[in-house]
Amino acid sequence: MDDKLMLMIPGPTPVPEKVLLAMAKHPIGHRSGEFSQIIAETNANLKWLFQTENPVLALTASGTGTIEAAIINFLSAGDRVLVGNNGKFGERWAKIAKAYGLDMQQITAEWGEPIAPDAFGEVLAADSEKKIKAVILTHSETSTGVLNDLEAINKLVKQHGEALMIVDAVTSLGSYNIPVDEWGIDVIGSGSQKGFMLPPGLGFVAVSDKAWAAYEKATLPKFYLDLGTYRKAAAKDSTPFTPPVNLYFGMKVALEMMKEEGLESIFARHQRHKEATRAGMKALGLPLFAPDSNASPAVTSVVPDGIDAEKIRSVMKKRFNIAVAGGQDHMKGKMFRIGHLGFVSDRDILCAVSALEATLQELGHSTPESGVAAVSKRLQQG
Ligand SMILES: *Cc1c(COP(=O)(O)O)cnc(C)c1O
Repeated sequence: MDDKLMLMIPGPTPVPEKVLLAMAKHPIGHRSGEFSQIIAETNANLKWLFQTENPVLALTASGTGTIEAAIINFLSAGDRVLVGNNGKFGERWAKIAKAYGLDMQQITAEWGEPIAPDAFGEVLAADSEKKIKAVILTHSETSTGVLNDLEAINKLVKQHGEALMIVDAVTSLGSYNIPVDEWGIDVIGSGSQKGFMLPPGLGFVAVSDKAWAAYEKATLPKFYLDLGTYRKAAAKDSTPFTPPVNLYFGMKVALEMMKEEGLESIFARHQRHKEATRAGMKALGLPLFAPDSNASPAVTSVVPDGIDAEKIRSVMKKRFNIAVAGGQDHMKGKMFRIGHLGFVSDRDILCAVSALEATLQELGHSTPESGVAAVSKRLQQG
């Protein structure tokens, strides 16, 4: 049976029918008054979602575009930066920093481990000449399911005083409480296909006053991703270039749905789903890759002992039409990842874990306990 695909990957994530239907229309002119109203409304709601008074700039780009924009808009060649690297995405930001000729130092941890805030603290404290211009951190490292301690690391960056805090919040924005203004996060990026209940195509970036001051002095070349042009346009309820008009139709509805649910409820739902999924894995005897203390609210990484993770994925897909993600790089075949980000309900979690239980049975693996019972027990607690 076609058309029954259940997406349980950490992006793209499921999209509500209301949002899909809102997009099923002819596009309108992006300079029209009608579209300008949609921009005004979505921009206001994005500020609500990002918990900031600063404009949230929408780029026609994937999440990577927002972090590249963060690097090229606020820094100059040769600037010293620290890049946190404990997974695939941290690795990517290090590559971008290198590509633009920054004086980059990586602060690392093994895949599956969070980066110790002290590892940043030591380097920042030793920088008495204030040469470090930015710290770049992946908050929820989607490749491993680890949530880095943004709050603690950001405090150390604030103590340093000079460096900008640049955050990849691609899978944590909308799933975890990040009070952007209150914490003084300087640049934070995310993408529509993650916690926004939207298809891929838009990247979002919010910028602090301190970062805008750095923008004035930054000399790396930029054009399409020059955030100054997006800021100017946003002030007039416009965009510098043609945006994905239909995606905006969808975004209007998705943000209304999120506002109706409320930030606290959204974060609590992700927390509940994370804990229920983890309880399910423990009951099934499947080892978790990330520690309980630093588990991502968006994705749970599982490292099945002695079972080919790709086989599990393949049965889940073929028998139940449930897509879960695989491991990346050296974790391919050793890991699968269950996404529970965005438009995900209790039913989805129950369904995914019971299908996984059935998959293990089909592959001839007995499970110590019932995953379904563990999941439903946690979900009942609210
Ligand atoms: C998905 C993701 C990105 C962005 O990937 P794109 O394919 O460029 O959208 C960046 N960081 C994290 C942590 C992600 O999960």
